[in-house]
Amino acid sequence: MTDPLQPTPLTAGNWKMNGLSASTGELAALIHAVNTKTAPTCGILICPPYTLIAAMAAQAAGSTVMIGAQDCHAAYSGAHTGDISADMIADAGATHIIVGHSERRADHGESSELVKAKAVATHQAGLIAIICVGETDAERDAGKTLEVVGDQIARSIPDGSAAENTIIAYEPVWAIGTGRTPTVEDVADVHSAIRSALVARFGASGQAFALLYGGSVKPSNASELMAAANVNGALVGGASLKATDFDGIIDAYRV
Ligand code: PEP
Repeated sequence: MTDPLQPTPLTAGNWKMNGLSASTGELAALIHAVNTKTAPTCGILICPPYTLIAAMAAQAAGSTVMIGAQDCHAAYSGAHTGDISADMIADAGATHIIVGHSERRADHGESSELVKAKAVATHQAGLIAIICVGETDAERDAGKTLEVVGDQIARSIPDGSAAENTIIAYEPVWAIGTGRTPTVEDVADVHSAIRSALVARFGASGQAFALLYGGSVKPSNASELMAAANVNGALVGGASLKATDFDGIIDAYRV
């Protein structure tokens, strides 16, 4: 019998502002790999830009690959020109929404309070929120990693969160797209602090939240990073754009 407190691992790809209709070929290649190779012990998620969600959700239907979004507005609907609601994302066939990615926190000034509101909107739409946290280079150098991540965890996660509707992604800002990664010990330390914070807040069920690591994950380092304590999957940027690379990361969950 499976342990209900054991997190379900996830390998998630964040395509960011990349992908045109021709990119559905990469999804086709990924689905082919997933259908023909040993089934991994993790879920598989691709978060393309909004423009591809409906087409890719239709394309992935019937496969084990899930489709998500990279952000949403916190409101259900209304006068928010150019924005997209969680309900619209659900309507397009997505299952997950990334909220609080460091590029949104930095480029759009998103506070943890706004991230929390977006996670609430995600939950209200019946979707799973992937809430991102992580320290900058300067914060790390100042020895503030656990303080910064702890504060983001406390303020970005809504009260109604549970393992069924919420995943946490620890992504050190300095590791994103740089080819630099923390040591496995550093990742394990931060993930252990996040796990303790979740258990302190949600009780034993805090053990069941999946904790993803993100930041320069690639096929050559995935197995080592995924084996760290309290790491339950990856959030992958650059290496998710090519099916062969992304599938090479999923290999960490094929026994
Ligand atoms: C990301 O942006 O979420 C990310 C982890 O990017 P990369 O894998 O390219 O470092």
